[in-house]
Amino acid sequence: MKWSLKIGRYSGIDVRMHFTFLLLVGWVALLYWRQGQSVSAAVTGVAFILAIFLCVVLHEFGHALAARRYGIKTRDIILLPIGGVARIEKMPTNPLHELWISTAGPAVNVAIAAVLFVWLKLSASFDPLAVMTTTAGPFFERILVVNLFMIAFNMIPAFPMDGGRVLRAILAMRSDHRRATQIAASIGQGIAVFFGVIGLLYNPFLIFIAIFVWFGASQEARSAQLQSAVDGIPVQQAMLTDFRTLDKNDSLDRAVDLTLAGSQKDFPVVDNGRVEGILTQADLMKALSDREKYPTVASAIQHKVNAVESFDMLDAAFEKLKSCNCHTLPVTLNSRLVGMLTMDNLNEYLRIRAAAAS
Ligand SMILES: [Zn+2]
Repeated sequence: MKWSLKIGRYSGIDVRMHFTFLLLVGWVALLYWRQGQSVSAAVTGVAFILAIFLCVVLHEFGHALAARRYGIKTRDIILLPIGGVARIEKMPTNPLHELWISTAGPAVNVAIAAVLFVWLKLSASFDPLAVMTTTAGPFFERILVVNLFMIAFNMIPAFPMDGGRVLRAILAMRSDHRRATQIAASIGQGIAVFFGVIGLLYNPFLIFIAIFVWFGASQEARSAQLQSAVDGIPVQQAMLTDFRTLDKNDSLDRAVDLTLAGSQKDFPVVDNGRVEGILTQADLMKALSDREKYPTVASAIQHKVNAVESFDMLDAAFEKLKSCNCHTLPVTLNSRLVGMLTMDNLNEYLRIRAAAAS
């Protein structure tokens, strides 16, 4: 992810921090300083926010390490001001595995809350009547309360929260994955409407959660629909076969001519039939602004080729398209270029199939 900084690595998984997270830390320091009028107040505030985000990181590691048990890798964990995201490569289709991976995160918060509660009780420093606000109150009691809040929030049975996945997993044990996702998404949208109404009446913050949940649910439903629609179909059936290519020694002018002449935006760059890479429109624009540095198309491409084989299954190619942050995948057969796959032509293929089936 752009604008993020690696802050650590544990068990082979990078923990990254988005730069906007620093804004949050700065804002909290200012808030405490204004309230307490001292440096120590500001330090306490920053310590509090960092302690909360340590809990968030542990929550995400709960998901990541549970996923690893089922052979699923996690690319990294990113800290954003709104929380953490573990970028797990794919969600399992086995409902029991999804259930364990989804509950592992909130289970970590349950463990933290339990340990804090026992420790506060044993050390006789638990003060249930203490006045707590966002900036005042006993430090560890506030951490305990935040963990309880995280459990409650994450277990709301709606996508993209963990509770939505738990609900889907339970439903999928009785019916198929696609149907379970649809039902879970509908329940999630029902909850979003409920939050929206309560939010309008009492608390505007709930409206934000409502919008967040609404989009999360519809995105998950669409993604599951696509996934099941492409099940068992090879890439060959949906790939583009009518397209232009560039030779690696072609000039940028040739790329400009081809771009203007048609609607194709990304061009495979080939060397004797073998794919060297994809010249995207962004690559071309960048190269045009510094032609001395990029005299040929080969010098302008990002060399990492993310090819799929023509006999690969579409669902795997779809996952690759989603995770590679590229618009276009070259399709090869015996390492020779035979086609291209884009999200647009994948969608087109699915629309045609749906129309033909109805
Ligand atoms: Zn979670």
